[in-house]
Amino acid sequence: MQEKMKKVGIMGGTFDPIHISHLILGETAYEQFSLDKVLFLPAGNPPHKRNRKGGASDLERVEMVRRAIAGNSHFQLCLDEMDASDYSYTYRTLERMKAEHPDTEFYFIVGADSLFDFEKWKEPARICQAASILVAVRDHVDDERLSRKMKELEEKLGGHFYRLYSTNLDISSKMIRDWIRRKKTVRYYVPEPVLAYIADRHIYGMESTLEETEGQGKEKIRQMSGQYDLKKIEEKLEKHLDEDRMRHTRGVMYTAASLAMVYGCSLEKAQVAGLLHDCAKCIPNKKKLKMCLENQIPMTEYEEANPFILHAKLGAFLARQKYGVDDEQILDAITWHTTGKPDMSLLDKIIYLADYIEPGRDKASRLPYIRKLAFQDLDECMYQVLKDTLEYLSVGGSDGIDEMTEEAYGYYREIHEKRKG
Ligand code: FE
Ligand code: FE
Repeated sequence: MQEKMKKVGIMGGTFDPIHISHLILGETAYEQFSLDKVLFLPAGNPPHKRNRKGGASDLERVEMVRRAIAGNSHFQLCLDEMDASDYSYTYRTLERMKAEHPDTEFYFIVGADSLFDFEKWKEPARICQAASILVAVRDHVDDERLSRKMKELEEKLGGHFYRLYSTNLDISSKMIRDWIRRKKTVRYYVPEPVLAYIADRHIYGMESTLEETEGQGKEKIRQMSGQYDLKKIEEKLEKHLDEDRMRHTRGVMYTAASLAMVYGCSLEKAQVAGLLHDCAKCIPNKKKLKMCLENQIPMTEYEEANPFILHAKLGAFLARQKYGVDDEQILDAITWHTTGKPDMSLLDKIIYLADYIEPGRDKASRLPYIRKLAFQDLDECMYQVLKDTLEYLSVGGSDGIDEMTEEAYGYYREIHEKRKG
């Protein structure tokens, strides 16, 4: 007597991230078609989804699936498409499975929407030879239209198409990613262990629940790793800054990050602000003036006479417009990195001082002392640096001094004197 064929369902998908609709669909297929098990098959490198911007890495997608299906004994993770060195095509995967398991009937699960694209898939007839197709019925897809399509494909491709009746949950991975980015809750849409993993690894820009409360000023700065692509910012900057300025920029970024570690500031904000603080520096002065006028960036008289100083304000403007930074703390730190101002935020001070002490600097006096002080006492260091700067500017015979620098000096001098008692 011929042995009974095994019946295995296959849930393919990018799973970026996996959500409850995938799980319910898999479970429904298992029940409705009396399957022995359902394989979850994360797509390795799907041709239509290459370079998924802001998506999870392959490893992360696999780990999310692993966590989501843990605890369901008839769900199983299948990594067949992950090892593929080139594109993974469904027909190839299914044919390989079929060849390796001749005792198994495969049921490939697709959404009703995908069915209307089915003929555009690579080798749809070969997919149908290797597996039966389970079509998840959706409310918004007209039933008659679906029947017609299934019949048409059966005749054309020679396969078997079956309806899979499942609850209509209008959830998509894209929606989940968007909601996370917009800081909307996705609780219960994604299984708890997956959600914890997303938060832990800051996937899709999700903020960790960890908050730093230590540090000067007891500022609460949430860690936001993952929101900015530092490498991309750096690559873009390289097109606008000369070699020396890039070297200085990297020095400021690392120094700012080090100070952020000491004072409990967001490392990412410190790095982004450090990277972008001089992004407008290499624009010719005339053009700086023109750009400020065109974009209604207010200028003081001093700035008009000394347009090099405008690179700070203009830098903040470009950081927002060209580099997609909308974090006001980062933009402020860029704005005030040259002149300083009274009552600066933790990040403002970190960027101002990192700019002054980064390893490539060698002109300022008392650098060894100032460098050490920066890691010990930010306000005292602000005072000392502003004092030296004003002295240097007045001796150097420059065209006056920016008022904001004087105000900043007054502010930090007061703190210095109060402390002295
Ligand atoms: Fe600068
Ligand atoms: Fe600088």
